Amino acid sequence: MTLVQPDGCLILIVDDVRQNLESLGAMLKQVGYTTTFASSGKQALERVHKIIPDLILLDLMMAEMSGLSVCEQLKADPKLAEIPVIFLTANQEKEKLLDAFAKGAVDYLTKPFNMFELLARIRTHLELKSKQEELKKSLIEQGKLVKQLEELAITDPLTGIWNRRYLYKQAEMEFQRAQRYHQAFSILMIDIDRFKRINDSYGHNVGDAALKALVPTVKSSLRKTDSFGRFGGEEFLLLLPETYFDTALAIAERIRKSVEKLIITAQEKMISITVSIGVSSYKLGDPTVETIIQRADAALYQAKNQGRNLVIGDSKVNMKIG
Ligand code: GH3
Ligand code: MG
Ligand code: MG
Repeated sequence: MTLVQPDGCLILIVDDVRQNLESLGAMLKQVGYTTTFASSGKQALERVHKIIPDLILLDLMMAEMSGLSVCEQLKADPKLAEIPVIFLTANQEKEKLLDAFAKGAVDYLTKPFNMFELLARIRTHLELKSKQEELKKSLIEQGKLVKQLEELAITDPLTGIWNRRYLYKQAEMEFQRAQRYHQAFSILMIDIDRFKRINDSYGHNVGDAALKALVPTVKSSLRKTDSFGRFGGEEFLLLLPETYFDTALAIAERIRKSVEKLIITAQEKMISITVSIGVSSYKLGDPTVETIIQRADAALYQAKNQGRNLVIGDSKVNMKIG
């Protein structure tokens, strides 16, 4: 645990009696604190906007603007609200303290000041503030970490696109939407042709590079609402919400052509790949999203059988919905 050191800490002292400012200032300076002064509430509020102190010693009773009112204004400003405020009170003002705490004070000191008490309380509140800041920082870090983990859980590490788990979740959601609102919904199953040969001829790393290179090529044909992910190995799934079968076929054909044109350079080799694509669409009466995925898979199987580098649509009747 690191203790807060006085040097480097700025304390604002607010009091309309000059003598108090001087004696407090001298005590704080002696142990190494840096100090700044204000002789009225108005001046204090001006000062805090120019230079944000680590702690404020605030006189409760001042002629023009009371310490309570200054404290209230400080706490209302999110930039200043975290600064600990210790009230300076005369003995006879004790009944005002309840009000002071209600306005956000963290502590009080009674005049005449005892140096040890003063320093102990200041140190306590500076420590507390520093601990709070550390905690806040670590909570923010934790929040970021949780977000990163959540993202990792739904991302394919090699290509950076959605993984199978997310694709299923998203497909289920789109399926339900299509059912509920009688909307169109299409699915493309994309598989790289003879991918094993690429691995066998050029090595696994070149194979990986090919998988990665496919992503931007496919993505360039997509809308924001489409979900593209790696279903497994060299197989990809593309979810096209609000898309009819004919349009899905056209998108598939566009993707097939752009992959065919793609030249992948990896490890000083230039290779090209082709894909086969199975296309299917939601039909009234489809019991689950799995049914649509299976039809896309069956269409893909046909594309493979018919020579590859081909788009095949689900052979069953596709009627327009809605
Ligand atoms: P087809 O045209 O019938 O789809 O033939 P194919 O060779 O593409 O299909 P097959 O299922 O026989 O082989 C798929 C290959 O994909 C085998 C596997 O080693 C490779 N593969 C799967 N995941 C990865 C990966 O992450 N990186 C690399 N480099 N290869 C992978
Ligand atoms: Mg393949
Ligand atoms: Mg495959």
